[in-house]
Amino acid sequence: MTDMVLINTHAVIPASMVNGPGNRMVVFFQGCDRRCPGCFNPATHPLDVRCLYTPEEIFHRYFIEGIEGITVSGGEPFLQPEALYELLKAAKGRGLTTVVYTGFDYEDVSSDGPKRRVFDFTDVMVDGRFDIGRKEPTLLARGSTNQRLHFLNSIYRESDFLMPGKVEVIIGKDGRVMETGFGRAVPYLS
Ligand code: SF4
Repeated sequence: MTDMVLINTHAVIPASMVNGPGNRMVVFFQGCDRRCPGCFNPATHPLDVRCLYTPEEIFHRYFIEGIEGITVSGGEPFLQPEALYELLKAAKGRGLTTVVYTGFDYEDVSSDGPKRRVFDFTDVMVDGRFDIGRKEPTLLARGSTNQRLHFLNSIYRESDFLMPGKVEVIIGKDGRVMETGFGRAVPYLS
């Protein structure tokens, strides 16, 4: 029942080349209670309701023909496991690939039934909270050495995460400037 699930959403970038393989829609979930020092996106931390969208509303508002897939980040997507599941399911229904970032470790997710079912529609999971003591700017698609890429099927491999840059600057229709990627990210909803 996709339309019954609401996603507390921080921001959506319709198309990005620095958040996983190819051109991707990026959905930032609102809410994370870990407060990791140096977190790339502290504005996503409050657990308050920001914008509530069904998966279908997200695709209706932000989907651009030609994107390769979606990347889900945050905030902590697994604080909304049902919403995450339905969003990824909707993406797969459109033939899109899926990448999910989480501060949980793979082992935490795989041992928790409601979270683990998200794997049904996930191609790659990037796990682990950002650890500023293990920050490493040369890593592919992640910020610290404790974070790992988990390929849950054969769609992608590590070399697919070689991206054209680390940071992307997006100028919205209203003239506002957004930055996203690795090293710095300040996305917001428009
Ligand atoms: S788990 Fe991720 S989003 Fe949450 S505070 Fe840590 S780095 Fe930030």
